[in-house]
Amino acid sequence: MAEQLERRDERPPARFDLGYAPAPESTDHVKVRADNGLLIGGRWVAPVSDRHFKTINPATEEVLAEVAEAGDEDVDAAVRAARGAYKVWSRMSGAERAKYLYRIARVIQERARELAVLETMNGGKPIKESRDVDVPLAAAHFFYHAGWADKLDYAFPGRRPRPLGVAAQVIPWNFPLLMAAWKLAPALAAGNVVVLKPAETTPLTALRLGEILQEAELPDGVVNILTGAGATGAALVGHAGVDKVAFTGSTEVGKQIQRTLAGSGKKLTLELGGKAANIVFEDAPLDQAVEGIVNGIYFNQGHVCCAGSRLLVQESIAEPLVAKLKRRMATLRVGDPLDKNTDVGAINSRAQLEKIQELVAAGEEDGAEAWQPPCELPARGFWFRPTVFTRVAQSYRIAQEEIFGPVLSVLTFRTPDEAVEKANNTPYGLSAGVWTDKGSRILDLANRMRAGVVWANTFNRFDPTSPFGGYKESGFGREGGRHGLAAYLDLS
Ligand code: NDP
Repeated sequence: MAEQLERRDERPPARFDLGYAPAPESTDHVKVRADNGLLIGGRWVAPVSDRHFKTINPATEEVLAEVAEAGDEDVDAAVRAARGAYKVWSRMSGAERAKYLYRIARVIQERARELAVLETMNGGKPIKESRDVDVPLAAAHFFYHAGWADKLDYAFPGRRPRPLGVAAQVIPWNFPLLMAAWKLAPALAAGNVVVLKPAETTPLTALRLGEILQEAELPDGVVNILTGAGATGAALVGHAGVDKVAFTGSTEVGKQIQRTLAGSGKKLTLELGGKAANIVFEDAPLDQAVEGIVNGIYFNQGHVCCAGSRLLVQESIAEPLVAKLKRRMATLRVGDPLDKNTDVGAINSRAQLEKIQELVAAGEEDGAEAWQPPCELPARGFWFRPTVFTRVAQSYRIAQEEIFGPVLSVLTFRTPDEAVEKANNTPYGLSAGVWTDKGSRILDLANRMRAGVVWANTFNRFDPTSPFGGYKESGFGREGGRHGLAAYLDLS
């Protein structure tokens, strides 16, 4: 019987070319404003310079809107507005602050469909992900932190927790709304005020969140939103009136920010890049592991800091596992992110696509073997086929550098010690995954891996109650859970 099953497993998949009917999500209910201002002190204002930039849909290259580019004077106005609002917000009781956070969470839920569609239009991620992951988790972060707002004394017994003041928060383009929620919710629960800078390519859901904050009647100036590019972010984190900086993005920019703040005594949390190992042992349930590998690297086109971009597979099962993986990859649907059947959407920007292409070319030049499932890509927009590299050596760039795209590098190991050594052989230390039948092995590996999060027999699970953050060049500080709150409080 077992033999028969094994043989059946080796046969190529039966092809029922029934096809999928298009299942596009409607965009009718999403009104994209042609011209967008900055949210400063509770008012939408034009930037002092009157400079704007275009934001596009990466799946079509169509211009969606013009967005304000905040300059130094706007940064200064936003920090001053936040400082003014701090008097009101920091003195408000925790129970009152909680009411606002609950209200924000409820409005996010009410406007979930609009937010999901807008996120997909501006960022290129599949609608099923923005609908089922990004938006529900954003609401969950506000709900969760609303619960903490009046319990800070219990969270840190004997410590007299006090807010820090004005928090400058700079976020990336891979989870635009969710990253805004990760940053805002704990800061506000702890009694801080905020100036938030979304990424240049994906400003639209952060701006819509600004409207939601107004709908929830959050006092003016408690949250200010400045759109712009890197220069806006640099001006914000370097502003003398800021008390705390929270940054998520590349390691390179994280290091620059660290240099800017060095010696200032300001609190800093950095959530940077990663090169996670997803380790599969021979006793793992292979079909589930394949699902976890696919989710680990092809979720959100691989634009995920904790993506399982290095597959470490025990040598004895490498061949059958890679064969199963390729069969599964061949079923991934790449294309229109607004189609509810799409698994892999558009690459976020031309610049990111070029970076992925460059690293994939380097992998081939180094001698690794690339495989991609056959699939047709749309004529316009930025696309990259799901890719798996075998014959990868640890020294190759594709095994060392963050690709931030749908590209997996497969390496093998023989013993648990070798797996740990290879998993830790990276400048990063954000996340890891272990697939095995043995609980003791999971605990042993989790202890020995230098990774902030270790998933066991699953991958890419997020929950607001669970602290998330890195070691080494993946940054420091935690977001989520009680640990994440501590980053926004003076506990001295
Ligand atoms: P960045 O680190 O440049 O962008 C993150 C955020 O920081 C954006 O809002 C960006 O603005 C802003 N920013 C840029 N320069 C500065 C600065 N000097 N001071 C303050 N803020 C700044 O990432 P990229 O978008 O350039 O992506 C490059 C690579 O970084 C990716 O290929 C990927 O490898 C990695 N990355 C990692 C992320 C993670 O979550 N760990 C997230 C995003 C990227 P703007 O975008 O407007 O320029």
